[in-house]
Amino acid sequence: MTDKFRVRFAPSPTGELHVGNARTALFNWMFARHHKGTFILRIEDTDETRSALAYQVNLLSDLQWLGLDWDEGPHKGGAYGPYKQSERLAIYAEHLKKLEKANLVYPCYCTEEELEEERQALILSKRMPRYLGKCRDLTAKQRREKEAAGRKPSFRFKVPELIIEFTDLIRGTMKFDSAAIGDFIIVRSNGMPAYNFAVVIDDFLMDITHVIRGEDHLSNTALQIMLYQAFGFMPPVFAHHSLILGRDRAKLSKRHGSVSVGEFRSQGILPAALMNYLGLLGSSFTEAREILNREEMIADFSLERASKSGAVFSEEKLRWLNAVYIRQSSADDLLEMLHPFLKEAGIDTSLLNVDKLNPIIDLVKNDITTLAEIGSNINIFFDEKYSMSSEAKHVLEKEGALNVVKTFAAYLQETNAADSDLYPAGIKYVKEKTGAGGRDLFMPIRAALTGKVHGPELDKIFALIGKDATLKRIKAIL
Ligand code: GLU
Repeated sequence: MTDKFRVRFAPSPTGELHVGNARTALFNWMFARHHKGTFILRIEDTDETRSALAYQVNLLSDLQWLGLDWDEGPHKGGAYGPYKQSERLAIYAEHLKKLEKANLVYPCYCTEEELEEERQALILSKRMPRYLGKCRDLTAKQRREKEAAGRKPSFRFKVPELIIEFTDLIRGTMKFDSAAIGDFIIVRSNGMPAYNFAVVIDDFLMDITHVIRGEDHLSNTALQIMLYQAFGFMPPVFAHHSLILGRDRAKLSKRHGSVSVGEFRSQGILPAALMNYLGLLGSSFTEAREILNREEMIADFSLERASKSGAVFSEEKLRWLNAVYIRQSSADDLLEMLHPFLKEAGIDTSLLNVDKLNPIIDLVKNDITTLAEIGSNINIFFDEKYSMSSEAKHVLEKEGALNVVKTFAAYLQETNAADSDLYPAGIKYVKEKTGAGGRDLFMPIRAALTGKVHGPELDKIFALIGKDATLKRIKAIL
């Protein structure tokens, strides 16, 4: 065993990275960084039918996007590799032999149908469905007959009679009676290791000191502890955190709305905001603070404090946090992240220089909650995107509105005031000439300038649009 803490995130690439799993990764990562330990990424891809390379690619990209950098794992290497289970099959085969030698496993020839029949019978008689050990005591002759008939066995672990006990860092003492657990499969009939088998071998060989994962794995831990004992391995410390719940307090799933990191990413949630939010959920920080950057989260993280009860996911809160993060970001940093969203909105940023774009971003960042909202907020600054909304049209149809706009244009045309004076002096001029004030003065000008009835402060918009574009827009209206 190393004296340094070693933790791992061990996703199965069978779908997009769920925020619940991302939170598990975050807890492991914060724990490792807090204790100056090692954070390992291991890909659990032994379920050939459900694993896909595309999921694995997205998984790595989402983790990188979140900034959850791993010290050992795919693309990184390390002294404990390979870090993909599909590349460790020889290791599992060798460990199966060890258990066979110790007479702790047996081949099982039951078919899916036979197992299902047994399950149904148990349920009908109101007993706990589990494997009752039909193949445990087959004679060598019976086994040969099954093999001769072409049956491929799976391998089952002989569950001993005992009370399995362990101390969970978050939940305290946990006890399971093995009487409720049937002999379970450790190697499937296709030769692939089952999750509980591979995970024990890998966690042991990779010197994992703490296994931090969701409470949905608690019952697996009971099985895994039996395997640790069978191998004579020292088990790691376990910590099972609560799960993320939907508003109805059921486990967060698709029917609650967006649940994958990729979905939030494409909606324009900032990685720092998502990290902060997932860290806050049901957790784990000392103070009642809500906005924590990476360093603060690491410094403040405590696994023991992570809540035992489920945490309800609020997309509204996430968006609120995201807006805070957007407002706090510099225009340069935002621009970096905004490119795909601007492109999607049909705005060709290559035509604009940063000097023009940055002040615009600094202005509209106060009005958006996700990066995807940038398009509809930024279009007022681009002639080719400028268009008149029906509300704005309505404003301009009101009595006196066109006169206000016309007078403003007249002022702009005649004046030789300095650029910085144009707006305040123009407004003053229109006020005096037309007698309009308040909304009757500002709304027509806003409507003409932006084609909208809401938006950032007018003086700031005017400063960015400038005199020429303003005149052009007003002329078009008149
Ligand atoms: N591959 C398992 C999963 O994604 C890992 C669970 C564990 O951390 O042991 O659920």
